[in-house]
Amino acid sequence: MTIPTLPSPAQRLPTTAAAGLSLCVYCASRVGQSPTLAQAAREIGRGLGRLGWQLVYGGGRAGLMGEVADAALAAGAPVIGVIPRSLMSRELGHTGLTELHVVETMHERKRLMAERSDAFVALPGGLGTLEELFEVWTWRQLGYHDKPIGLLNVDGYFDALLDFVSRAVDLGFVTPAQRALLQVDGSPQALLRRLGELAPAATAPDDYSRT
Ligand code: AMP
Repeated sequence: MTIPTLPSPAQRLPTTAAAGLSLCVYCASRVGQSPTLAQAAREIGRGLGRLGWQLVYGGGRAGLMGEVADAALAAGAPVIGVIPRSLMSRELGHTGLTELHVVETMHERKRLMAERSDAFVALPGGLGTLEELFEVWTWRQLGYHDKPIGLLNVDGYFDALLDFVSRAVDLGFVTPAQRALLQVDGSPQALLRRLGELAPAATAPDDYSRT
C-alpha cells in the first residue's frame, strides 16, 4: 500500500468527517496489564463507528493505540493516523488505515492531529499520553483552539492525577475555569456523548502558528 506523506495545507481535508465529528485520541503505545482499560479503549473505537465519527490518532498498531484503531476500523469508522517516520518501526505504523500520514517530526504530528480534529480525548497511557493531554489542554488555555477535551478515567486510572490538579487549584496555580476545561468520565459512551454535545460550540478558528 502507498503511505502518503504530509499533505500541504492547501490539500488538507476538512476536520469534520462527513457524518460526524473527528475525534483525536491520545493513548498508550503499550497494552498495559489491565484488561478493563484495554476493553475501554476498544469501546471508544466501537463508539466512533456507531456514532459515524472519524478517529485521528498516532498511527501505530502498538498498544492501546492499535486497539482503538482496529476497533474503530472494524466498526466502520474512517481512521487517520499521523506518525513520525522515526517511530514507524517502534510504534508499528498501521498500514490498514483510511489515511496514514508519515511526518518528519513529533511537532508536525501533534499539529496535524490537532488540525484534523474537532475534539480530543485521552485514554489510559504513559508519559507520551500525559504529555499530549497536557499540551492540548494548555493549548486551549492559551486560546490556540476552543475544542472540548476529555479524559477517560476508567477504573480510577487517573484519580491521583486529578487529585493533584485539584491541589493545584486549591493552591492557586490552576484556576477552577482551567480545570473545568477537562471533561472527565469513566464511561466511554458517556464521554463521547459529552464531547459530541460540546464540540458544536467550538467555532473559533484554530491558531497553532504559535506552538
Ligand atoms: P505512551 O503514553 O508513552 O505510551 O505514548 C503514547 C504516544 O505518545 C506515543 O505514540 C508517543 O509517540 C506519543 N508521544 C507524544 N509526545 C511524546 C513525548 N514527548 N514523549 C514520548 N512520547 C510522546
